[in-house]
Amino acid sequence: MSETLNPFAIAQAQLDEAAEVLQLDPDMHAFLREPMREFHFTIPVRLDDGGVRTFKGFRVQYNDARGPSKGGIRFHWEETIDTVRALAAWMTWKTAVVDIPLGGAKGGVIVDPRSLTRTELERLCRGYARNVARVVGITQDVPAPDVYTNPQIMAWMMDEYEVLMGHHEPGVITGKPLELGGSAGRGDATARGGIYTLREAAKVLGMDLRGKTAAIQGYGNAGTFAHQLAEDILGMKVIAVSDSRGGIINTDGLDYEQTFAHKLNTGACAYFPAADEITNEELLELDVDVLFPSALENVITEKNAHKIRAKISAELANGPTTPEADDILYDRGVYVIPDFLCNAGGVTVSYFEMVQNAYQFYWSEDMVHDRLDQKMTNAYYAVQKMAEAKKVNNRVAAYLVAVERVAQAVRLRGWV
Ligand code: GLU
Repeated sequence: MSETLNPFAIAQAQLDEAAEVLQLDPDMHAFLREPMREFHFTIPVRLDDGGVRTFKGFRVQYNDARGPSKGGIRFHWEETIDTVRALAAWMTWKTAVVDIPLGGAKGGVIVDPRSLTRTELERLCRGYARNVARVVGITQDVPAPDVYTNPQIMAWMMDEYEVLMGHHEPGVITGKPLELGGSAGRGDATARGGIYTLREAAKVLGMDLRGKTAAIQGYGNAGTFAHQLAEDILGMKVIAVSDSRGGIINTDGLDYEQTFAHKLNTGACAYFPAADEITNEELLELDVDVLFPSALENVITEKNAHKIRAKISAELANGPTTPEADDILYDRGVYVIPDFLCNAGGVTVSYFEMVQNAYQFYWSEDMVHDRLDQKMTNAYYAVQKMAEAKKVNNRVAAYLVAVERVAQAVRLRGWV
């Protein structure tokens, strides 16, 4: 039988494996396999030419036993309810593994945002906010950016919500522009958190990352900052990067400033002077020290897992590796820093943003970095110790840490 690529089936299968190792009570297991609440709605958007297009939107509140649910909103043409469910489940384990007092949620709209004008995009965002206004808020559920959403989109949604509710509540959404209550350090937080876990992993593995090579699949928010920070913090050499239109490689290293400027100017990585073209598939299979899958789900599957030559896969994307591929990578000795640990820096600084919004008192960037480092380092060692103690791969170990924390909150509340 060929492997399933349905992200929610994968998220459930991962939980099932952890439940078996934990010997989780079957009633608890059954409860944690399903989202607590989900909302499906249609958003009619008035176009600039006077017509109307209707979009499908979702918000899934997977679990809020540990606190208000939290998670981004994705705009993607291939969005499905099962993808949003999976991402909401992963947010639940993510907030638990970094031990912040929040649950997990995710939102999505089936749309190619590049097909809308700026004014149409604003109307779509306001329409989304109107649909979820009654079920989000600082004590209920707090959205944030994700694939193809950004601080401007968060600002429009916050504004629509506040106008509807009749009061200021900046903490209703995170990843806002600094001028509207965003946090210092939120922009690069996902990549920075991943770099901190990679720094610790290298210590455990006895590797010196200075001068070592990296390849980045997905040159969006997480991928571009990973390039900068792998150079600045770890002294690594990034030799290849890619986006949906293909990749580039230069074995002497791609300079961050120049590569990023090229991507900004042309909208793509391809055709960068002084680099050769490479496909996404080839990039994943490069003989590098560290691979950063930083785009979407299911890029490392049973088809290519045996060809991955990186020593470490630091997963900045959500769900890049299938369970079958996980087993292959583990057997072959590829050290995986699993997604909901590696990319938890974004939601961690989102939590810091909520705290600052609540007090209307803002922290310096250095303070954000220090506190993020503490959270990521603690989470990394909780997972690493669990992997050693139970002799399981890092993903199962991360599940063991996270599921036990969520299950305990559910038990204490008396739900199961
Ligand atoms: N979308 C990001 C993630 O997948 C951040 C979520 C948040 O800040 O709430 O972790």
